[in-house]
This record gives sequence, C-alpha cells and structure tokens, in this order.
Amino acid sequence: MRLSSYFLPVLKEVPKEAEIVSHRLMLRAGLIRQQAAGLYAWLPLGYKVLRKIQDIIEQEQARAGAIEMLMPTLQSADLWRESGRYDAYGKEMLRITDRHERDLLYGPTNEEVITDIFRTFVKSYKELPLNLYHIQWKFRDEIRPRFGTMRSREFLMKDAYSFDLGMEEARKSYYRMFVAYLRTYYRMGLTAIPMKAETGPIGGDLSHEFIVLADTGESGVFCHADLLDMPIPAANTDFNGDLTPIIDQWTSLYAATEDMIDMAEFEKTVPEPKRIAARGIEVGQVFYFGTKYTGPMGATVTGPDGQEAEVHCGSYGIGLTRLVPAIIEASHDDDGIVWPVSVAPFEVMLLNLKSGDAECDAACEDLYGKLKAAGLDVLYDDREGGAGAKFATADLIGVPYQLIAGPRGIKAGEVEIKNRKTGARDTMGFDAAIAFLKAAIEPERRDKV
Ligand code: ATP
Ligand code: MG
Repeated sequence: MRLSSYFLPVLKEVPKEAEIVSHRLMLRAGLIRQQAAGLYAWLPLGYKVLRKIQDIIEQEQARAGAIEMLMPTLQSADLWRESGRYDAYGKEMLRITDRHERDLLYGPTNEEVITDIFRTFVKSYKELPLNLYHIQWKFRDEIRPRFGTMRSREFLMKDAYSFDLGMEEARKSYYRMFVAYLRTYYRMGLTAIPMKAETGPIGGDLSHEFIVLADTGESGVFCHADLLDMPIPAANTDFNGDLTPIIDQWTSLYAATEDMIDMAEFEKTVPEPKRIAARGIEVGQVFYFGTKYTGPMGATVTGPDGQEAEVHCGSYGIGLTRLVPAIIEASHDDDGIVWPVSVAPFEVMLLNLKSGDAECDAACEDLYGKLKAAGLDVLYDDREGGAGAKFATADLIGVPYQLIAGPRGIKAGEVEIKNRKTGARDTMGFDAAIAFLKAAIEPERRDKV
C-alpha cells in the first residue's frame, strides 16, 4: 500500500476526551473515530488490525472444532420472553419497535437465538457435541461508555455456544475453548491469564475470565506470578484427546478477580514474592451454564436410551474491539504504538526520505516490489515531506519494522532497518535487507506455533 493513496488521518493534537493511553493512540494514529457516545467508526488502519485479530480467532476456533456462522444483530423480543431474560436484562438492552409494532432488540448476546436454531434442527444426541459461533456486532447501552473501544456501546464480539449431552461432555467442550483461548491471545502477542469468575446460581468451577494485566484495567486481579510464563498449548494439541492436564496446570496456580478473591486462600497458596495484586482488562470469558436456556426453551434431544435428554451448554466470548486497545495498553512507548507482528496493520513501513528525487524514487520502487514479492505486508511512505515527520508517523502507527531509504545510503547501495520495539538499527544492502526482514518477520507472525 502506498501512503500517498491511502487514508490515514493521523492527529497532531492529543485529544482531550481520551483518558487512557490506548484511547489517545487509537485516535492519534487514525484507527477509529467516535461517531456518537460509545459508537465508533473503524478507519482503514484500525480495521486492518481488527481483521487480523478476527483471522487469528477464526483459525483457533476452527482448530478447537467450533463452526462459524452468522446471526442477525436484531433479535425478536419473544425469544427473550421465552428464556425469561427480556424483563430481567434491564436498561443495557436497546429495545426497538418496528412499523408493525413488533418488539425487537439489538442483541447484547446470543444465547436465545442460538438455542432457537439448535432446537429447530438438532434432535438426536448423535449430532453432539456441537459448538457454533459467530463474530457479530453487539449493543449494550452501557451507562458509562469510556476509554474508546475498551468499553463502547456497540462492540464486535466472538461468541461461541457449545451443546452437549450431560455435564461431563460439556466440561470437555469448555476445556477445548479454554485451550483455544490460551492459544488465541498468545498468537496476538498478549499474555492473558485465565482467572476464576462468578458462576452465579449455576455454581461449579467452570467460569473463567481471561485477563490482560494493565494499570488502566477496570478489574482488580490477584494471581501467581508464574502464570505470566506458563507454556502455551502447541498447535498440534489433540482437541479430541484429554485436555485435563493442560487445564489442571493452568488452574493449579491461584488467579481470581476482585469479585471472586479469597484473600486467605491467595495468601496461603501463593508465596509472598510471587503475589501479583494488579489491575487487568477482561478480553474474554468462558462460562458453563448448563440447561439455563435449553431448559425453559425446550431444547432437548433423544438420548442413547431413546428417552428425551437435557442439553448442557456453555458460552464463550471474546471482545475483538476491546482487544485492539488491550494490545496497545500492553505494547506502546512514548512515541506511539508498538504492534506485535501478528496483529500489526502492516509488517514493514518503507520510508522514502527524499520522495521526488529520481534516484530515491527508483530505489524505493525497487525495494517496494521486492518486499511485496517476499510476501511481506508493506506500507510505503512515498509522500513528499520532511524526514522528521515521516519518522514520527512511522513510530506513532507502530509498524514493527521500518525500512529507511535516504539519498546518501541509496548512493552507497544501503538502507537502514529499524526495529520499532527495540529501537535497534542495522544498515545493509538492499537484498540483504529484504532477506533480513523476511527472516525476522515470519516467525513473529506466530501462525505456526
Ligand atoms: P464487562 O464486565 O467488561 O462489562 P462482560 O463480562 O459483561 O464485560 P461478556 O458478556 O463476558 O462481557 O462479553 C464477552 C467479552 O466481550 C468480554 O470479555 C469483553 O472482552 C467484551 N465486552 C463486553 N462488554 C464490552 C463493551 N461494552 N465494550 C467492548 N467490549 C466488551
Ligand atoms: Mg464477562
């Protein structure tokens, strides 16, 4: 992509309304624009990040056996009356009446719709286990939308729903999603820790929130420091096999949010130097809720004995539009965003320091072609303008590698590579630079881990 023909509305001023660093950087780097309270347009650079996040989620959901579909944003109120949640949900639900006076709502979540689809088509235990998911916009009329897309009213969520015959099968489905989540966040360059979460009247141990530690997080969290370097399950993990050892390893060390904290247990089980009491961002949640919806909505199947059997369910959410600020909170410096390669809007930014100069332009065209031919996702700053402004933009938007081509270097057949994260700089010939970038970037994509 050539920057001269791209749409990248960066802001020079730090917007006043933005309180936290990720919100400021998302506005300054031209990722989003607020259209109304808690409603955001995703500008091209931000949307590219969102799509990369979506790709990773889809790949890992597929690996764990979940099947993608798409349900509408608007839902019929009648389904929610059946489950008993229509009145209970309260003011966060956006209720709409159509021209025929029918009650609709903008879906804040999809348990009712998916249960309705399930009961329509699935009649036998032989069709289980089943895990269906979609990635769709949700609306919750948050009383205080804030921090940009961290807590917005309209937000993009991946929500999966598992259906199983009995609790023990449901536990296996839960474990599959748990492992998928560990891999998903890792691939985005994040350290997300599963923490015990509220199960409400359902009880049991099958509810975890995945939390990214950040000072600006809205939840207080308590956990064992070793959870920050736990091994991530490998790509070839057998999702049909026994995942219990992985789950046991991850849940054997204490981790809970402030809603669930048992201080005595925390202090008893975590030695003092290993105790982390910090703040965190909830980037996802996995939750077993049994027959909470299949019961009242009459979704049953025929069991192996020919009798009608209950269907046990779980739901599994990931906030895509919250992940973008969460990644920025975890990875930025004074100059701007520092994207992990796997979610970066571009992998390399080619800076032509003297656009308009015939020799520089020719060399940069050559480099641009070679970068693309090497399979790298490149943004070419071919605009005329000062080097200082180009460096500032490149640092602000946080592309992981900068390939800097200035007139003096080009005469000597050399370019400079800057690693955005470490600041390390290397000077080398054109072809060596392409090979260097390819070798550095490919493993950082984390698509083979
Ligand atoms: P929170 O406690 O932050 O309000 P929640 O527990 O109500 O979130 P869930 O129903 O568990 O949210 O939704 C799944 C995921 O969707 C959350 O883990 C979060 O990443 C994301 N999410 C929820 N609400 C919002 C929001 N208002 N803005 C952006 N993302 C959200
Ligand atoms: Mg939650």
